[in-house]
Amino acid sequence: MVVGRRVVARHSAWLARTRRLSSRASSVLSSVDIPTADQELSGVYDGSWKGSGDVLKSICPTTGEVLARVKSATPEELRDALAKSRDAYRYFRTVPAPRRGEILRQIRYALSNKRDELGALVSLEMGKIRTEGIGEVQEFVDICDYGVGLSRMMNGRVVSSERPGHSIVEVPNPLGVVAVLSAFNFPVAVYGWNLALSLAAGNATLWKPSPSTPLCSIAVTKIVSRVLEENGIPGAVASLVIGGKDVGEAVVEDKGIDMVSFTGSEAVGRAVGKVVQSRFGKVLLELGGNNAAVIMPDADMSLAVPAVFFGAVGTAGQRCTSTRRLYLHRDIASEFLAKLEKLYRSVRVGDPLAKETLLGPLHTQNAISIYHDAVGYLRDAGAEIIAGGERYDAPPLDQGNFVKPTIALPKSADPKDRIWRTETFAPVLCAAVFEDVEQAIEWNNAVPQGLSSTLFTRDLRTVGKWIGPEGSDAGIVNVNVGTSGAEIGAAFGGNKSTGWGRESGGDAWKQYVRWSACTINFSDKAPLAQGVDFSA
Ligand code: NAD
Repeated sequence: MVVGRRVVARHSAWLARTRRLSSRASSVLSSVDIPTADQELSGVYDGSWKGSGDVLKSICPTTGEVLARVKSATPEELRDALAKSRDAYRYFRTVPAPRRGEILRQIRYALSNKRDELGALVSLEMGKIRTEGIGEVQEFVDICDYGVGLSRMMNGRVVSSERPGHSIVEVPNPLGVVAVLSAFNFPVAVYGWNLALSLAAGNATLWKPSPSTPLCSIAVTKIVSRVLEENGIPGAVASLVIGGKDVGEAVVEDKGIDMVSFTGSEAVGRAVGKVVQSRFGKVLLELGGNNAAVIMPDADMSLAVPAVFFGAVGTAGQRCTSTRRLYLHRDIASEFLAKLEKLYRSVRVGDPLAKETLLGPLHTQNAISIYHDAVGYLRDAGAEIIAGGERYDAPPLDQGNFVKPTIALPKSADPKDRIWRTETFAPVLCAAVFEDVEQAIEWNNAVPQGLSSTLFTRDLRTVGKWIGPEGSDAGIVNVNVGTSGAEIGAAFGGNKSTGWGRESGGDAWKQYVRWSACTINFSDKAPLAQGVDFSA
C-alpha cells in the first residue's frame, strides 16, 4: 500500500512538473526543435544560449494554452550580448562580401528545408493561417536569395573630380551592429528582411523580437546559428535577446548600436526615433498603416472585391498593410458592398492550422478590447454595421481571440474623425462613398499614416493621376492589386507617420552600410576645390 501511495505521489509530482501540451501544439513545436517538456527555455543567444531574466509566456491565441515559458535577457546578459556583437562585427566586416553571401545561401537552404514547419509555428504562436505563415517564411527565403545576389553587387561609384589627377570614389563599408526590434504580426519575415541585408553588408545583427512571439525567434535563431557555427563564424553575428519593453529601451539607448531598425506601432516608434536621434544613431522606422482602397466605377469587380476581402480580413486585419478604409465611387457602392458582405458572411473561421481556415484569431486578448472599442465608437457615432461587430463566443472559438470581421459605414467621411485617422489593429473596415477621383485621393492622403494604398480602375488616365505628383502619398501605391501582400523585390515602407523607412528590396540595402566618400589625389599637385587659393 505504502509503495502504491509513493508511486501515485511520484506520478503527481511528475504531472505537476510536466506541461501537458496538446498534441496539436507539441507536434508543431517538436518539428522545429523546441522542447515540449516542462522547462524554461533560454531566450538569449550570442554564441551560446542563456537567459536568466523575467519569464515570458508564449500563449496560443487559438486555444489560450501556454506553449512555453521563456527566460528573457537580464541587463547584464544584454550588455554581454552587445559586447559580443561588437566583437563579431569586427571579425565579420573583414570577411569578403561574396563569402558572406555564401553563408546567406546556406541559411536560405536551411530555412527552406524547414519552411512548412516554421510556417506552422507562426500559425500556432501568432495566429495567422497556415498558408500565410508559410508565405512569411518564404519571404525570408526570397530575401536571402536577394542578399546572395547583393553580396556581389553592393557597388560603390566612381565620380568625376573637377581637379586634374584626382578621382572620387564612394565606398559602401560595413556599418556596425544593427539592432532589429520587431512586431508580433510578422514574427519571422521582418527579421529576415533585416538579417539578409545586414549580413550581406558585413554587419552583426542583434534581434529583439516581440515578447509575445518568442518561439518563432528561437526557432529561426537555432537555424541561423547552426549555419554560422558550421562555417566557423561567431554566433554573435546574429544575436537574439528576448525581452519586453525594458530590454527594447536598453537596446535603443545603447551607443554601441549603430542602427536601430524598428518595426512596430507609431506610438513606440515615435519614442524610439527620438532616443536614437538624440544620440545621433541611425534609425529606420517601419510603423503603422491606415491603408485605403479606392474603387472607381470602371473597376473590374472580379478583381476588386476579393482583393478588398483579403486586404481587410486576411491575417484577421493584423497586417501593417491591411485595408482599413474603403472608398467607393457612388455608381458602384451598393453593388460592391453587397458582394463584399456576401464574402464576409461566408468566411471560414477556425484553427489557423487547419487547411480550410481563412480567418484565425487576433493575437492577444488586448486586441479584442481594441476591436470592441472601435466598434463601440462606430456604433455610438451612428455608423451602420454591415457585417460583424462582435466576438465569436460559441465553443470552441470562445477559447481563443476570435472576432467577426466588420464592415462599417460611418455617418461621416471626415478624415479628421478618429475612426478614419487611427490604425485599429483588428479586422474593422470603414467604407465611404465619393463623387470623383480627386475627392478619393484627398481622403486617401488626409490621414497621418502613409504606408499602402490601392486603386481599382481600367482607365489609364486615372492610373497616371494616382501614381503621379497629385496622387497617393503612401509608400506603396498599387493599381488593381490589394493593399497587402508585397513582394521582396521593391523597397518596402511608408511615409509620414509610418516613419519613412524602407526595408527589403530596391535600394534599401544602402542604409545598412557606412558610405565613405574618398577623394584620391594621384598627381604631384594639390589644387583646392572650387579654385580656392590658399598659397602661403
Ligand atoms: P509595438 O510597437 O507594441 O512593439 C514593437 C516592438 O517594440 C516589440 O518588440 C516591443 O517589445 C518593442 N517595444 C515596446 N516598447 C518599447 C520601447 N519603449 N522601446 C523600445 N522597444 C519597445 O508593436 P506591435 O503591437 O508588436 O505590432 C503592431 C504594430 O506594428 C502595428 O502598428 C503595425 O502596423 C506595425 N507594423 C508595421 C510594419 C511596417 O513595415 N510598417 C510591419 C509590421 C507591423
